[in-house]
Amino acid sequence: MTSRKIKKIILVLFLLVLSSCIDQPSKTPATIPQKTQYKMNQYQGEYGSAGFIKDHTLIVSIYANDKNTQWNFDDPAHQQIKKQTLSYLSLATKWIKKQVKPYHISPEFIYDWQKYNDLSLTTTFNEDMVVDNISMYSLQKQCIKQLVDSHTLQKKYQAENIIYMFFFNTDKTNPINPWSLSHSNGTDFNTEIINIFVCFDDILTPPASYAHEILHCFGAPDLYYENAYIMQAYVDHCQEICSNDIMYGVSFGEEMIDELSELDAYYLGLKDHCHEVEQWHLHPSDYQKEDK
Ligand SMILES: [Zn+2]
Repeated sequence: MTSRKIKKIILVLFLLVLSSCIDQPSKTPATIPQKTQYKMNQYQGEYGSAGFIKDHTLIVSIYANDKNTQWNFDDPAHQQIKKQTLSYLSLATKWIKKQVKPYHISPEFIYDWQKYNDLSLTTTFNEDMVVDNISMYSLQKQCIKQLVDSHTLQKKYQAENIIYMFFFNTDKTNPINPWSLSHSNGTDFNTEIINIFVCFDDILTPPASYAHEILHCFGAPDLYYENAYIMQAYVDHCQEICSNDIMYGVSFGEEMIDELSELDAYYLGLKDHCHEVEQWHLHPSDYQKEDK
């Protein structure tokens, strides 16, 4: 652990009731990024909810009220927090784009709801949604189904991939870390979700957390605990070398000093081989099965 970097292990946890899903009114038309070749994927979540990181990815931001946390956008302070989440999303996606450049791809993330007003939605749940388990998954999935016309949005923005990011306006007393429902948690979860709790453990959720969760949607597994892809010995190894890998831990603050490792790239389908997979007996990348 370097002096500039505080490593935080993000706990994965998981799992309610939907009240209403209200679309925000449209404001201004915006120019939509065009692709020369675009076709809708018949993608079913084999690698992570999003699919191939090289493609165009739509990120739908859903600002959600729940039993204990609220957004009030008449309040300038809440507006400011919302704007900050957009700014962090920008930092996170720029970082990802930069990190994957050596693999000769140029992903596009379309998320800017200031420019494209239909990418920001609001909803209200009656339940306590800030939980560390997947008990609320079916509610959130139901919400997405009712609130987001994914197919139309993807067509409109010519995006092969779509990510649903929920934002809950927690304060710093919230002990629950942000998390996403990882593909490795089960094949039933075709609609992964990201839950960003604006604050946790006395800090503002940093942009590195946003990037970490987004990478899950493309298949990158966590490296900080043993799971279907990662053996405990490798987790121990990461700890021993104070790994700076973004899937092992995230840097706090706005400056992202994290690394996207070759192992992450392998699990994202950007590399066919990674020596660490053999060396540490890790599970092969799901992308190995398909043409990229
Ligand atoms: Zn994670």
